[in-house]
Amino acid sequence: MSIIVQKFGGTSVATAEKIRNAARRAIAAKSQGHQVVVVVSARGKKTDELVDLAAEITETPTPREMDVLLSTGEQETIALLSMAIHKMGEKAVSLTGTQIGIITDNASTKARIKKIATKKMHDYLDDGHIVIAAGFQGCDEDGNITTLGRGGSDTTATALAAVLKASMCEIYTDVEGVFTTDPRIVGQARKIPQLSYDEMLELASLGAGVMHSRSVEFAKKYRVPLRVRPSFSDGIGTLISQKGPEPLPVVTGVALVKDELRVSIKNLPDRPGVMSFIFSKMAARKIPIDLVVQDIAEEGTAGVTFTVPRADFADALTAASSAVEEIGQGTVAHGTELSKLSIVGSGMATHTGVAAQMFQTLADHEINIMMISTGDIKISVLIRSDRALDAVQAIHESFHLDKQENKTPTIGFQHASEPDIQVVSDDREQEVVLGLANMEDIVVSDVLVDTSQARVTIEDLPDRPGIASKVFKAVAEGGIMVDMIVQNVSEEEETNITFTIPRDDLEQCLLLVREVIGQSDGAALSYDAEIAKISVAGIGLRSHTGVGDKLFKALADNDINVLMVGTSEVRMTAIVKKDHAARAEEALKKSFAIQ
Ligand code: ADP
Ligand code: ASP
Ligand code: MG
Repeated sequence: MSIIVQKFGGTSVATAEKIRNAARRAIAAKSQGHQVVVVVSARGKKTDELVDLAAEITETPTPREMDVLLSTGEQETIALLSMAIHKMGEKAVSLTGTQIGIITDNASTKARIKKIATKKMHDYLDDGHIVIAAGFQGCDEDGNITTLGRGGSDTTATALAAVLKASMCEIYTDVEGVFTTDPRIVGQARKIPQLSYDEMLELASLGAGVMHSRSVEFAKKYRVPLRVRPSFSDGIGTLISQKGPEPLPVVTGVALVKDELRVSIKNLPDRPGVMSFIFSKMAARKIPIDLVVQDIAEEGTAGVTFTVPRADFADALTAASSAVEEIGQGTVAHGTELSKLSIVGSGMATHTGVAAQMFQTLADHEINIMMISTGDIKISVLIRSDRALDAVQAIHESFHLDKQENKTPTIGFQHASEPDIQVVSDDREQEVVLGLANMEDIVVSDVLVDTSQARVTIEDLPDRPGIASKVFKAVAEGGIMVDMIVQNVSEEEETNITFTIPRDDLEQCLLLVREVIGQSDGAALSYDAEIAKISVAGIGLRSHTGVGDKLFKALADNDINVLMVGTSEVRMTAIVKKDHAARAEEALKKSFAIQ
């Protein structure tokens, strides 16, 4: 008999009537012949209320007691839902995370799932019960209650669906499905009928709050089909699965993180090992770093800038300062009131004009781009927070995301040839997943090397809206596919942009760029045809703090200097000198235990 997992979020179980509504859905699925497991969140704003209550008692609650407290929200809902089902004449049983046997590590308030026992759930299901599971919680090996981080009920749902080999995991929520952007920010946002795990992973980890990004990792790892559905209507919602729709849209959605902070470390010695040292300091404190941009080294000094969430900011500054002290050189600076705006789309890799159009739209609205960082299927920029909502609206409009058709950028064109993207082997990935000691362990399945690219850098461009867009427009209209782009936060009104392109296009690209920057005083162009792009591929690379650390360390230990970095959920990339490529590949394979 097939198993269906249904998850109801906080607003979908906020009142007695909504709980009855959830009960009816579960019973309906059962009467269609499925075995049904329902995962629920705490009702309404219950978790927030508990957080506030704790804050009234103490400023420094221990994480262990926070978990004991917060887990009560979900415990309340499971009992109420179970009662509602009983009242409707069906068999149901409520189970806490501990009762099920959801075993996590001991990282209170942000625990990761290690394994899940299925016997008790199967016994109840086989006996005709609907199983009601508390989301967001588990227990460590010593029996302490743990929670999975805010929004973690989605993760419980996909994890249960994975271990129970469910045919579908339905996420019931307060919107019609996954939208092209948060429908609360942009009224014209449109529901997306179907998207791929990779797109959802990027969207979720870049700020689309509709799904917990760790839950999408589970779904992708264990190939659980997901459907995000409205709890308030019969809408069919959004299907998320391995393959996206055909043809793949160039841009699928826009995501925003409003409260980002920037940490910059400048004047560092330019030698292998320095970046690795800094990243290891951050990883040791479990600080997730994002939007990493390294300066192209000048006069023997190097710099790195990254963004961190507000909650980790103080910790990140302390770690940066102590790193600089130990290195004996460098200065730490920071920036606040920043927002990260990202566009995501699988078809991006074959269209030349996506970046140019994004930058142009921002320029048209006088929104300055402070940093740029790209991944295979996403482009992220850092902008000032006070323009963030305008920016989302403008980008959404510019790519016609409110319309079903016609989402192709007006700048550049679709490349006729297949893009030269190295494909990650699905079989390898599944092999690694099946061999994991703990369910949420990092999956790194491949090391990929690409020696077909060249680097172009424009230094000392005047820092004002419109510069990036001019450069990338010229390149896009010349038919050149830009791969990685990084722009660092500007100092003294000037900025540097670096990007990679196919080496065969280098000469033409230089011509095009020279023409654009010819009009900008003082800007200088440099390039390097002898580079290699080396990446580790896997799942959820950004949510695990240690991957960057390990990558940099492996390269540093082999005396390999990293020239540029890029991160995405499924790939972490470093640009190195071409003659270091073979050594880098070997080092990374060894470090990530890949044959
Ligand atoms: P739940 O309590 O059901 O887990 P959440 O509040 O966690 O619900 O997630 C649903 C909310 O996510 C929506 O109300 C919406 O405002 C927000 N959201 C953000 N980005 C998106 C998006 N791209 N598509 C749909 N909803 C989004
Ligand atoms: N109740 C928890 C929270 O509010 C978990 C969840 O709703 O997913 O974060
Ligand atoms: Mg949620």
